[in-house]
Amino acid sequence: MQEYADQIHRCFRCGYCTFPTDYSYFNCPSYRRFRFESYSTAGRLWLTYAWLKGEIDWSEHLAEILYSCTTCKNCVEQCPMKFAGDIVDWIVGARSDMVEKSKIPLEVGRFFEAVQVYGNPLKLPRAERDTWAGGINRYEPGDEYLFYVGCLGSYDENGQRMARGLAELLKQARISFGILGKEEECCGNEVYMLGEMGLFQMLAEKNIQRFKELGVRKIVTLSPHAYNTMKNNYPEFGAGFQVYHYTQLLYDLIKRNMIRFSQNQAKVTYQDPCFLGRYNKIYDEPRQILQGIPGIELVEMERNREDSFCCGGGSGNFVMDLLAGGEEIPSRVRVREAYETGADTLAVACPSCMTMFMDAVKEEGLEDRLTIKDVSQIVNESLPC
Ligand code: SF4
Ligand code: SF4
Repeated sequence: MQEYADQIHRCFRCGYCTFPTDYSYFNCPSYRRFRFESYSTAGRLWLTYAWLKGEIDWSEHLAEILYSCTTCKNCVEQCPMKFAGDIVDWIVGARSDMVEKSKIPLEVGRFFEAVQVYGNPLKLPRAERDTWAGGINRYEPGDEYLFYVGCLGSYDENGQRMARGLAELLKQARISFGILGKEEECCGNEVYMLGEMGLFQMLAEKNIQRFKELGVRKIVTLSPHAYNTMKNNYPEFGAGFQVYHYTQLLYDLIKRNMIRFSQNQAKVTYQDPCFLGRYNKIYDEPRQILQGIPGIELVEMERNREDSFCCGGGSGNFVMDLLAGGEEIPSRVRVREAYETGADTLAVACPSCMTMFMDAVKEEGLEDRLTIKDVSQIVNESLPC
């Protein structure tokens, strides 16, 4: 951080990225939630820098401010400065520093401990990782795809529904694939974003070794978070797999007529997951899938694609919920925006978005008027009988 002192100073004086391009909303989810400058990108960086320089003392509150960033990359996308691409790296770097000094919020420490002990942040037994997967084959050498399900897909009721739906579609398209079941381990994306680089390396190396032993060449992930880390971080540790998010694979199968539609009837709006959109520029495939279904009308929320608004679940918040409380939490704000489009369905492509919005839609009292559905569920419902 010391070598970035000038940039951080300039950032603190700026604040431009707090808004999207039309200046109508606060677009940093933690600033939107708390409305204090210290929770905006620039304020957070300035405070962290002051701590690293020894100008202020560490406190639990300072650590909470640093960890209230969901690593959504809105600031990176909006920032006009040359150093824009480094901003989230600075935040992750500062978190690493806090981890090394054992100065992290209690919830973050518990998150790491759960991943270490149970192999997932939900503290659920490894033996239960595949209870959702009756009838789905284990990966065998020679299968075309390893379906990496992830922690929410394995344990969360809504994530399990997504995983089953995708597996059903892959079976129908006659794709040879398998899962790792109880042997599957956390991907580590959130551990990385929370700054525990030692634990992240251990998870990445363990996963890569297992994938290599099995002869895996192609991986399809349910979660954009796993997609992101396996595609962008794992190669540093010797991975050379082809990694796909499931919306990419489904789009390809549809283009090749391996999945065909009959009819649906819905007005749908779509949430861009940060780790699919801003991190990996996958904006079109999920939309093209939805637009290709006869009877589906796709309407956009005012904030979409690069300007999209995070659900609040990134960086482990789908478990820790450091932004929790009240009407102004990002997931509730976003559900209201989805409802304002007139859509009856909010489509997601991420199990973290799914779990955040399932809670939010109930808290908003909109569960009878706005249904949260995963893209693969909508595809499943649109197949010929
Ligand atoms: S991240 Fe960029 S746009 Fe945002 S406050 Fe800092 S310098 Fe300004
Ligand atoms: S990454 Fe997202 S949550 Fe973090 S500072 Fe930037 S806009 Fe705010």
